[in-house]
Amino acid sequence: QAKASGKISHQVFAHKMRAEALKRLQLEADLYEAIKQQEFELYYQPIFNLTTGRISGFESLIRWHSPQRGFVYPDAFIPIAEEIGAIIPLGEWVLKEACHQMYQWQQQFTEASSLFISVNLSGRQFVQPNLVDTVQNILQTTGLDSSSLKLEITESMVMENIHQAIAMLDNLKALGIKLSIDDFGTGFSSFSYLHRFPMDTLKVDRSFVSNMNQSQKNFEIVSTIILLAHKLEMDVVAEGIETDTEKMALKKLGCEYGQGYLFAKPLPVAEVDKLLLNK
Ligand code: C2E
Ligand code: MG
Ligand code: MG
Ligand code: MG
Repeated sequence: QAKASGKISHQVFAHKMRAEALKRLQLEADLYEAIKQQEFELYYQPIFNLTTGRISGFESLIRWHSPQRGFVYPDAFIPIAEEIGAIIPLGEWVLKEACHQMYQWQQQFTEASSLFISVNLSGRQFVQPNLVDTVQNILQTTGLDSSSLKLEITESMVMENIHQAIAMLDNLKALGIKLSIDDFGTGFSSFSYLHRFPMDTLKVDRSFVSNMNQSQKNFEIVSTIILLAHKLEMDVVAEGIETDTEKMALKKLGCEYGQGYLFAKPLPVAEVDKLLLNK
């Protein structure tokens, strides 16, 4: 009896495994097709100067319009695109598209001439030996000034191979672009190296911001991160601000910039156009 049911559950398990593997293979195939068919779109979330209340830049955030799956958020496909290497062509498209779009806005709206565009980089892109050339080429072909581009890099990307990473960061900085540490506090940072990273901005992860007014611990973490950033001469963007209380607390702590649903969700180009027109 026990043996028989064990056999059945084994079959069920094997069946599930096969189904999972098939789903995964299908997703991989769809991703490659999506790159060919250009099914991706960039959304742009404004980043606000907390002192002036004005927009200082945008973060580009990718979306996938899949004919089979509908509207797909990046967490559902970026990790797989990374694993299979599809992130290389995809990431290059993102960079080009974001730089082109920011150049357009700067031309179109006088108020936009000093805005920056912040682009997420994946770990796989970060270790491409020709990344610096790619970025330089894209700046050249899109016409965007290097000082208007910011690249977002996570701690784990840097900590994997610190010396190689520092060299890469220095070479990127030499182009005149800005660098930002994304999701700060969620990865492993070595404090002894932090001052050697030529970063301009530190982004405090949403998980610390979102309940900093309920959790004393999170409040302490956020205020310590802001102090640390300022000591290292970086400015700070707080991610995921959803309430006025959070905004006020962050302002009081000296946090320069904020991003979150309180101000705006990530927006398609047409919505940003309207926003900039009414500025
Ligand atoms: P991220 O870079 O940390 O981006 C911030 C995420 O927080 C975005 O999710 C944004 O929509 C969300 N967010 C912003 N404000 C709020 C808020 O007030 N409340 C809440 N609940 N969420 C907020 P999204 O767009 O789903 O992107 C998720 C992640 O996917 C990004 O996290 C980034 O790591 C990755 N990603 C997005 N676009 C790209 C890309 O073009 N290339 C690469 N390599 N990764 C990307
Ligand atoms: Mg980011
Ligand atoms: Mg982030
Ligand atoms: Mg994140």
